[in-house]
Amino acid sequence: MTIRNIVVVGAGVMGRGIAYVSALAGFRTTLVDISEKQLQDAYEYAKNTSEKGVQRGKITVDESLNLFNHLHTSINLEQTVKDADLIIEAVPEKRELKKNVLEVTDQHAPKHTILASNTSTISPTELGSYTTRPKQVAVMHFFNPVYSMRLVEIVKGLETSQEAVSIIQQVAEKMGKETVEVNEFPGFVTSRISALVGNEAFHMLQEGVATAEDIDKAIRLGLNYPMGPLELGDLVGLDARLNNLKYLHETLGEKYRPAPLLEQYVKAGRLGRKTGKGVYDY
Ligand code: NAD
Repeated sequence: MTIRNIVVVGAGVMGRGIAYVSALAGFRTTLVDISEKQLQDAYEYAKNTSEKGVQRGKITVDESLNLFNHLHTSINLEQTVKDADLIIEAVPEKRELKKNVLEVTDQHAPKHTILASNTSTISPTELGSYTTRPKQVAVMHFFNPVYSMRLVEIVKGLETSQEAVSIIQQVAEKMGKETVEVNEFPGFVTSRISALVGNEAFHMLQEGVATAEDIDKAIRLGLNYPMGPLELGDLVGLDARLNNLKYLHETLGEKYRPAPLLEQYVKAGRLGRKTGKGVYDY
């Protein structure tokens, strides 16, 4: 099956990034959201990112112009999915919301359409059970910021077909990504490790082991991570980080219990870059 039309549902941090790489790869891409404002911001994001891409020599002027021939926006999900070959949902990490989006897309999309989710935690088997096509449902897990992070984790549910996996893999590769195939386990590969490292950094901050700046610097320069765990937490969103930890704590046990300081930051509304204040001020 050839994928031509991709619909990305949710124009937030991840959805706008996924739509950007999708349109840049030449897929006819429609970004859907319930908020006009989010769609406008996503379009602005695409303009700014492509301008920077051209300035830095990462993409050509032609590629940048072409991108906007391929990128569309809509607030009508039912209508938009009618000619989709692949739908990638990136709505907030709330079960009921994802269930609803999957049910609606399943009902209105053609039979051949593959439904992928950018969920960080929810099981692809469970997501498949919300639809009449579990063979065509999988997790397609991108990383933030989508245009520069090279990995896509493809997570299979109990019923996911190998054909769906290989189509998703080809799409990801056309978007310039590398893929790994993961069996269904809480936290997949990356979230499981990243949650532990991020949580440990919060414990260390709370215990006064070092300043936030020095914890991040030590991990960047000593362990060769591109970003420190605290600055990464601010980028991802401390609320998202806390939710992941809570979920892993429930499913995998004690070692994932969230650090009290992280819980306190979230209670105080210090969620990271998106609120202007997290571990650091922005
Ligand atoms: P976000 O809150 O930035 O964006 C979500 C968007 O979905 C918003 O624009 C919202 O208006 C829209 N939305 C809400 N309900 C909708 C509906 N019914 N139909 C259409 N749009 C709707 O969220 P995000 O950070 O982009 O996360 C999206 C998904 O990606 C989550 O499942 C999250 O766990 C996962 N994820 C996030 C990151 C990250 O770093 N933020 C990384 C990997 C995966």
